[in-house]
Amino acid sequence: MTKLFNFSAGPAVLPHAVLAEAQADMLDWHGSGMSVMEMSHRGREFMEIIHDAEQDLRQLMAVPAGYKVLFLQGGASQQFAMVPMNLLAGKTSADYVNTGHWSKLAIKEASRFGKVNVVASAEDRGFSYVPDQGVWQCDPEAAYLHYTSNETIGGVQFPFVPDAGKVPLVCDMSSDFLSREIDVAKFGLIYAGAQKNIGPSGLVVVIVREDLLGQAMPGTPTMLDYQVHANADSMYNTPPTYPIYIAGLVFKWLKEQGGVKGMAAHNGEKAGLLYHAITSSNGFYSTHVAEADRSQMNVVFRLKDEALDEVFVAEAKKRGLVQLKGHRVVGGMRASIYNAMPIEGVKALVGFMGEFAHQHG
Ligand SMILES: *Cc1c(COP(=O)(O)O)cnc(C)c1O
Repeated sequence: MTKLFNFSAGPAVLPHAVLAEAQADMLDWHGSGMSVMEMSHRGREFMEIIHDAEQDLRQLMAVPAGYKVLFLQGGASQQFAMVPMNLLAGKTSADYVNTGHWSKLAIKEASRFGKVNVVASAEDRGFSYVPDQGVWQCDPEAAYLHYTSNETIGGVQFPFVPDAGKVPLVCDMSSDFLSREIDVAKFGLIYAGAQKNIGPSGLVVVIVREDLLGQAMPGTPTMLDYQVHANADSMYNTPPTYPIYIAGLVFKWLKEQGGVKGMAAHNGEKAGLLYHAITSSNGFYSTHVAEADRSQMNVVFRLKDEALDEVFVAEAKKRGLVQLKGHRVVGGMRASIYNAMPIEGVKALVGFMGEFAHQHG
């Protein structure tokens, strides 16, 4: 097998040790005689798997009492609808911060269910920064305040957790979940699609404060009501069992790596190397993102001559550095360096970037 470093934005790289363990378990999980894929979700074996996954996640994030952890389906995109359907009933409006592509989609979907107040937008400068909270026009009566902690496409990450006062704070944490320490107690609800930092697609993790449950709008489909899933411990219907199992292995792996704190240090080091390579290239590479708001997960950059983009991608691929092409709406390059990307991958990329700039500069 060729050794690759996969910089995909999602589905993305998983820890090698996790994949190897899943391979060893594939035909026979822990002497059960079954693959995890074949197990009843209500059987003793799978109940153990989902229980451990939840406990490990609670430990990793120090989730306080009074919060439910849910393993759901439909991706982060379904949460764009579930959040307003469950939290907006009986309220006049919800507040949203617009920092790019994913914020915009969340805003668009929420607008189908009620009034959305965009409290701040970074569109004026091409979504290259996080607006200072001092200028946000928040409504103290809002049903909730929603933001996207890391814009996966634009490469912009919040360097702070917004202060929402008494209003429940809701966060799409899909692409920086478990990458740095956060205080869950500051949030009403956190959601994260799995395929960036958790596991395979098909799973979305929701952490929700219990007092926000049981307020869904009339007509909300049963499957889209958080209370239904909370009451059933994510077993109202058949959950995505295999993705939950892999997520559980990733959580155990994270604990072995020093937990979220260990990961944050590792991620800071990786991002530091890569941004340094960009900003010290005498303009051969550049990033449009404001320094304080540069994502530690998705490093978005350009080459000074767009005509070299294709050559860059092709040459990188020959070195086993793949999936570096930027998202079509932003162009340029994007290196996604989630938790599971080893530092060797970033060093290999930085080495290649230096050589490429030398040859073509
Ligand atoms: C990937 C992503 C989504 C969409 O996730 P799906 O699981 O494809 O619905 C939403 N928000 C952010 C921040 C993302 O990175």
